[in-house]
Amino acid sequence: MTVRPTTGDAYREWGEPSPPVEPRIEDGAQIADERSVECDICVIGTGAGGSPLAKELAEGGMRVVMLEEGRHFTTDDFTARPREMSTILYRDAGQVVTVGNTPIILPLGKGVGGTTMINSGTCFRTPDPVLEMWGKRFGLDGLAELDPYFRRVERELNVVQVTEDRAGRNAAVVRRGADALGWKGDFIWRNARGCVGSGVCSFGCPSSAKQHVGLSYVPRAWAAGATTFTESRAERIEHDGRRAQAVLATTAAGGRVRVSCSHVVVACGAIHTPVLLAKQGLGGRSGELGRNLAIHPATAVRALFDEEIDMASGVPQSYFIDEFADEGIMLEGAAGPPDYAAMSFPFAGEKHRELMLQFRNIAQFGLMVSDLSRGVVRERAGRIEIRYDLNEEDTQTFKRGIERLCELFVAAGARAIYPPVAGVPEIVGGDLELLRRTEVKAQDLVLMAFHPLGTARADARPDHGVVDGDLRLHEMENVWVSDASAIPSSIGVNPQITIMALATRLAYHLLDKPAPDNEPEPESIARPRITQPHALTV
Ligand SMILES: Cc1cc2nc3c(=O)[nH]c(=O)nc-3n(C[C@H](O)[C@H](O)[C@H](O)COP(=O)(O)OP(=O)(O)OC[C@H]3O[C@@H](n4cnc5c(N)ncnc54)[C@H](O)[C@@H]3O)c2cc1C
Ligand code: SF4
Repeated sequence: MTVRPTTGDAYREWGEPSPPVEPRIEDGAQIADERSVECDICVIGTGAGGSPLAKELAEGGMRVVMLEEGRHFTTDDFTARPREMSTILYRDAGQVVTVGNTPIILPLGKGVGGTTMINSGTCFRTPDPVLEMWGKRFGLDGLAELDPYFRRVERELNVVQVTEDRAGRNAAVVRRGADALGWKGDFIWRNARGCVGSGVCSFGCPSSAKQHVGLSYVPRAWAAGATTFTESRAERIEHDGRRAQAVLATTAAGGRVRVSCSHVVVACGAIHTPVLLAKQGLGGRSGELGRNLAIHPATAVRALFDEEIDMASGVPQSYFIDEFADEGIMLEGAAGPPDYAAMSFPFAGEKHRELMLQFRNIAQFGLMVSDLSRGVVRERAGRIEIRYDLNEEDTQTFKRGIERLCELFVAAGARAIYPPVAGVPEIVGGDLELLRRTEVKAQDLVLMAFHPLGTARADARPDHGVVDGDLRLHEMENVWVSDASAIPSSIGVNPQITIMALATRLAYHLLDKPAPDNEPEPESIARPRITQPHALTV
């Protein structure tokens, strides 16, 4: 078995450039009339779930049409200016927000590549205990054998480990604190090729280093004959209650595209897939459609140092600490350039100005909770409502996680620390007493979330899930779901390659092929210290 290098130069090198591919795009902004196309499979959505599937199926000989509501962006479009980029690459300019006991911003990407276009590039395999739990709890035993698909995805995307020189000073400071406390951590594995550490992964990588699926998988799907209709929003799936016959999309120019096909795969992400299915009267039989929304809520702690850190330089999410992963807490990098910091620092007025003037001396690190809370997605009066209440247990997990991040910054030598907790604006002199004493409620936290999951969850039992173990809608013969909505629970780690591995598995299933047995073994992979799934109880 060959071994694929994943350390050292593997991160910095460009590797073999893919041969240029002529985009096979039908631009919905130019389609004002009626179009009709025929294919074997229509894939709705080109994110982490849609694109790998489209590529594998096209290479397997199927005629594939992808529908994507957003535009196609090339690397030349990525200016590295967060304010500019967030308005065009993010859905609703990044202002998607949950309603509930604390509002949580839930950014989503919109364009060819979906949210992978604007994500941080972190790649963790699904922890084994989580896969085992899916087998026991949801009857998804088949998913335990994901290894060959992970290897394939990791090779396609060049998943390699960040090197110390690219990780930046922000990671160095955090690592120093973790080492002082004896907490386990490591540099992150990412889908990157020749990363220069420019620090703007979440606003479109301006050097084509981040291998988002719109840059990696979609061109390979085009090379194999697939076509993408951009700015074309799927609105209807024609079906007779047993089989789907076609997908109808409206285009940005007011036209219509009708895709006649023998298979339909819905891959619109965990917010839009349940809404699209519900509109068709599909997937609702178990009553679980739109429910079970997990989001891995997250927050960040900032700290002021005497030394220069310049968190704008280096990979923003380059280091992780999994010391508390069994408690449902993952600590992961969360850095970026000044205009991103200015948008996200939870301060106003003079304090905001004062901190921004000291931007070069500020470190920032994130924490993500493997949530037990669950939300609901539904359409109301033509608008999508995302209802999510953070429960008491998750709130207290946040409190513990924030205390630990503050301890870490104290150990690293911070002059002042800014926890995202109402009533504790600043900690000086390493005194965490006020934070420890403060009773924290959900609404006292400043939260964001990046990983919506579970709204069309897989469960082998038709009464408990929307799709079966092969991700097919229980009541339909030829409609599948390939995105984050099929993931049945929180997984405790960033989900993109879990979604891609499942998409690849689905493609092999649709092609009636056995799992690939010739994929190289990666030299190393991240194995976060998760010995039991935190979310087992839901
Ligand atoms: C800022 C940020 C950073 C992140 N960082 C990481 C990370 O480092 N590692 C990680 O593992 N995960 C990360 N994630 C999460 C990860 O990117 C997502 O979990 C993943 O992309 C979800 O894949 P998906 O296929 O479900 O949906 P998406 O990737 O969101 O793709 C869905 C696509 O469907 C399109 N669509 C929706 N409705 C329709 C319709 N009706 N018709 C046509 N098209 C439609 C959308 O426009 C979109 O392009 C991050 C997310 C964010 C927001
Ligand atoms: S750090 Fe810069 S070069 Fe590296 S992946 Fe992110 S945006 Fe691209």
